[in-house]
Amino acid sequence: MNKNIHDLVIIGAGVIGHSIAFRVKRMRPELQVAVVGDPMNSLMASRAAAGMLAPFGECDRADGFFRFCRESLDKYPAFIDELVQVSGVPVFLSMAGSLMPSLFYKDSWEERKRFFRDQGVPHEIWPPARVRERAPHLSEKCGEVMWVGEGQVNNRQMHDALAIASARLGVTRLEANVSGFIKDAGALAAAVTDRGDVRGRRFVLASGSWAAALGEILGVSLPMKPIKGQMCRVQVEDDRLEYTVHGKLTYIAPWRGGHGFVIGSTMEDRGFDPGVESDVIDRLVEKAAEVLPCLAAAPLIEAWTGLRPAARDLRPVMGKSERYGNLYYSTGHYRNGILQTPNQADYMAGLLLGERNEIAEFSPSRYHL
Ligand SMILES: Cc1cc2nc3c(=O)[nH]c(=O)nc-3n(C[C@H](O)[C@H](O)[C@H](O)COP(=O)(O)OP(=O)(O)OC[C@H]3O[C@@H](n4cnc5c(N)ncnc54)[C@H](O)[C@@H]3O)c2cc1C
Repeated sequence: MNKNIHDLVIIGAGVIGHSIAFRVKRMRPELQVAVVGDPMNSLMASRAAAGMLAPFGECDRADGFFRFCRESLDKYPAFIDELVQVSGVPVFLSMAGSLMPSLFYKDSWEERKRFFRDQGVPHEIWPPARVRERAPHLSEKCGEVMWVGEGQVNNRQMHDALAIASARLGVTRLEANVSGFIKDAGALAAAVTDRGDVRGRRFVLASGSWAAALGEILGVSLPMKPIKGQMCRVQVEDDRLEYTVHGKLTYIAPWRGGHGFVIGSTMEDRGFDPGVESDVIDRLVEKAAEVLPCLAAAPLIEAWTGLRPAARDLRPVMGKSERYGNLYYSTGHYRNGILQTPNQADYMAGLLLGERNEIAEFSPSRYHL
């Protein structure tokens, strides 16, 4: 048993866990923080994502979640600057925006324009002649296209940078699997791992799709499940497209810098299924090639599966536990966890350091956790 008592133990080494550690250490360098993460987890969402920063493509209601995502988008340029500065790791970020071809949004086109206008979302409607000028490689079938002021990040570089930045700030990283907890009078005293017990004063459960399993060990019922996404990355020259493209059940995310284009993605309710099916990947590429024809002949670099952590109401679960006095949650970021990372880190650090109140819509109390 490690006798060291950390001020904060974060369980989960994805973008959510690491970014909380990063922000807490930036705010309070004297605190001892540990991030505990299962090293074997190839399905972790943070490395599987496409890195789209798309509050406008994803939301169609001006609720608290929309505001939270929008604030996070606004924080991105400063967040990446800070991260690159601390980590020394380059992270690709583009705020060039995304494109929504009318071809895919026939039923909701006018509604979407109205929503963007009402909410002051930066957007432009590009008639076909303008599309030819700005995105000449898009298929003419796309018709009118909406440009939206969103962003794109290389989430794998960001995940690497977060881990390195946290280590440089003095965060302890433990590659271990948590299988239990030691409890002490309505609070947690330690996380039990295959590499010994990790003692702490406060704990954060940031274990993505696996949060429900750890919840079960804690005797709480966290209504969460993994939503599987299959994706691939193909080799295409950077100059073929500057923007991220959203379509119904398809998207194209340029990672640039010679890293090719990511094509996504399926939404499958199939538990913790790690499989990648070649016919599914072929269909994704076919669909994306309807928008960007050069994708049809592009060499495949890789294909993979990742799991999106989805709570029953599809909202993040962020805040303090009702059941345990020193436990916090940050999970359930579902389709937008990369987008939410900077704001989530500020929000969680603020809660942990007693500097802000909870947003009721995201509170673990809604599930009596
Ligand atoms: C295919 C796909 C595409 C996506 N595209 C986008 C996108 O374009 N834009 C966007 O904003 N979001 C996107 N997302 C969503 C985003 O990736 C997630 O919301 C986000 O990465 C969740 O991060 P996380 O750190 O909570 O979870 P994860 O990255 O899954 O990390 C969970 C961590 O917990 C650890 N863990 C779990 N159980 C244990 C245990 N018992 N002991 C120790 N460690 C444990 C795991 O090892 C891992 O380190 C996508 C997701 C997928 C799957």
